[in-house]
Amino acid sequence: MGSMLKNKNILVMGVANKWSIAWGIAKKFIEEEANLIFTYFGEKSKANLEKFLVEEEIDNPCLISCDVSTDENIEKAFSQIKERVDVLHGVVHSIAFANKDELQGYYYNTSREGYLLAQDISSYSLVAVSRNAKPLMTEGGSIITLSYLGAERAVTNYNVMGVAKAALEASVRYLAVDMGEDNITVNSISAGPIKTTSAKGVRGFSTLLKGFEKRVPMKRFVKTEEVANTALFLCSDLGTGITGENIHVDCGYHIVG
Ligand code: NAP
Repeated sequence: MGSMLKNKNILVMGVANKWSIAWGIAKKFIEEEANLIFTYFGEKSKANLEKFLVEEEIDNPCLISCDVSTDENIEKAFSQIKERVDVLHGVVHSIAFANKDELQGYYYNTSREGYLLAQDISSYSLVAVSRNAKPLMTEGGSIITLSYLGAERAVTNYNVMGVAKAALEASVRYLAVDMGEDNITVNSISAGPIKTTSAKGVRGFSTLLKGFEKRVPMKRFVKTEEVANTALFLCSDLGTGITGENIHVDCGYHIVG
């Protein structure tokens, strides 16, 4: 336990359950004394969060409902955040969604509706969240999102989500330019495969992981805690000079052919 995030108000979006990357990040941030605000989507996720925060002995937690599929919802969530804190120092955007039946088979079969849905929830939401976060980030800060190698390579079955992640990574660069003069950094962490609810939605995810340990330079899977450590670094005073980056935290998987 340290105090790398002491006096920092950080918004964490995307905790669904104990396997969620966002929960791994939140736990790490709690250890480092951050004051966390959470948004949740499903009621089940809310109930999980409430339970986890009791276990972490967090008094009076701030949990706000936010379905990122509309600007109105996001604006409403931020007006509630404003009632709770004057300044925001960080945002962790750990949200993605695509129709399960489009995370398999031929990418060319992606429907227009499914394409737009994946882009909307998984990529555009970062733009809208950043726009709403900016006025609260008056002391500078860090915005982080989660990406995957499927943005850069054609990963079997990742399909429409890979295209959404490519847009997300491009958005990170444009947002980094927009926010730079306000001392706000914007980065993505490209995590290696981790068994979460979302990951299991990609057909053949378990098959994809077979032999992974043999192919990856470090001969093992990345741990959620290692992704959380990178998020901590980016949100702490150690990461202030880094913006517009896509940092791979994948035990080196992205470098092998
Ligand atoms: P997860 O636990 O299922 O998290 C995904 C989150 O997105 C859930 O909390 C879900 O909420 C939320 N969400 C979906 N639609 C939403 C909406 N309309 N509004 C607000 N929130 C919504 O899975 P995860 O693996 O931790 O995913 C987090 C991020 O990491 C995603 O961007 C994912 O693509 C990325 N990532 C994952 C891996 C991996 O291998 N797991 C690797 C690289 C990157 P509900 O559950 O309440 O619906």
